[in-house]
Amino acid sequence: MPLLGCIADDFTGATDLASQLVSIGMRTVQTIGIPDEGLAADLEDIDAVVVALKSRTLPAETAVEQSLAALEWLKARGCEQFYFKYCSTFDSTSEGNIGPVTDALMDALDVSFTVACPALPANRRTVYNGYLFAGGVPLNESGMQDHPLTPMTDANLVRVMDSQTRHRVGLVEFDCVRRGSEAVRSRFDTLRADGVGVAVLDAIEQQDLETLGEACRDLTLVTAGSGLALGLGARWRDQLTGGDAARLPAIPGREVILSGSCSRATLAQIEHTKAHYPHYRLDALTLAENYQDQVAEALALAREHLDRSPVLIHASASPDNVKRAQQLLGVQAAGEIVERALGEIAGALVNELGVRRLLVAGGESSGAVVSALEVKGLQIGPSIDPGVPWTVTLGTGERLALALKSGNFGSEDFMTKAWETMP
Ligand code: ADP
Repeated sequence: MPLLGCIADDFTGATDLASQLVSIGMRTVQTIGIPDEGLAADLEDIDAVVVALKSRTLPAETAVEQSLAALEWLKARGCEQFYFKYCSTFDSTSEGNIGPVTDALMDALDVSFTVACPALPANRRTVYNGYLFAGGVPLNESGMQDHPLTPMTDANLVRVMDSQTRHRVGLVEFDCVRRGSEAVRSRFDTLRADGVGVAVLDAIEQQDLETLGEACRDLTLVTAGSGLALGLGARWRDQLTGGDAARLPAIPGREVILSGSCSRATLAQIEHTKAHYPHYRLDALTLAENYQDQVAEALALAREHLDRSPVLIHASASPDNVKRAQQLLGVQAAGEIVERALGEIAGALVNELGVRRLLVAGGESSGAVVSALEVKGLQIGPSIDPGVPWTVTLGTGERLALALKSGNFGSEDFMTKAWETMP
């Protein structure tokens, strides 16, 4: 029976949390949405489960509905503690969804107090006096103020949370955090007595998250980025299934890299990889004109080289190039046609060409590939770089090794070194 049940509001964020849990010795499974009975056997001998939703930018009502369904499923599995995972930049729309989902989970679990802790010092997301900093600057100056879907224009999380939740919002200040977990717990008591339902937590360094994790050990519900997981781990130490939590079965087979990410880090990784492996570039405009021919060409290149080397198939392009495609096709349609092609190519590579090991770059792109391959769940294994573990698919059907990389993660040689860390 899993001890810890997590609900993540997006796909690669779920993988990030799952890989943090594995790093503290918890055998962890990530499910794609709420799984059906097909996964039952894979959920028996694990310490934590992360349900990956795609609820971050849904209407708040739908996000609440999905999160509550995930909670019910986790409760039925026997989880003892629950973790609502969101982004370390507190990505939310003006309507939520962090506040409304937190409220609904508190009601469903019958708790009157929880915490909000997005801090992730390893990625330079820190909280001081309730203000969230990303890369050393306030959130609203970090570029997040221009995010197309979840623009963050206020770095003050007490204010942001206050506008989203019906609970009173309080703060556990940095000075208190530095006095240790006992001091934090007693601050929780004071806040509770003052009628506070959600406490924003200051944290600047890793050691602060450890203090906070220890202080949160008895809370039924926590809400956080992936960072708090490290601190919570101590609670479970004596109850874990044991052994190497990152162990995965060996998956032999052909190797491919698929990328639909146009993030800066991915573009550098693609340049590096092109010098090492055969590669093919999908073009959004060409796909729009002649979809079948371009997909066939990509598969022909793969067929020619796959028995000797990994092959790279990517749509990744410079911002100018992407903009041109978006102007001519529309933003949505340009993204969709690339995602459709990546999904179809992934299906053919696996079903017809014997590919069993896939590295996918891009959050949305990963979603498209996982859905085309009808993946229901992932066993989380060793990390290639922080936040990007190797995983092995669960459920019925042939097992695949998948590494799903969100755009800005990974070092420049990520796509060539990844194969060395494979089980
Ligand atoms: P990231 O994690 O880097 O944000 P995503 O996969 O989430 O990557 O998002 C990238 C989006 O850009 C996807 O919807 C993808 O289909 C789209 N895309 C990729 N290449 C192009 C291109 N050449 N022109 C237009 N859109 C593209």
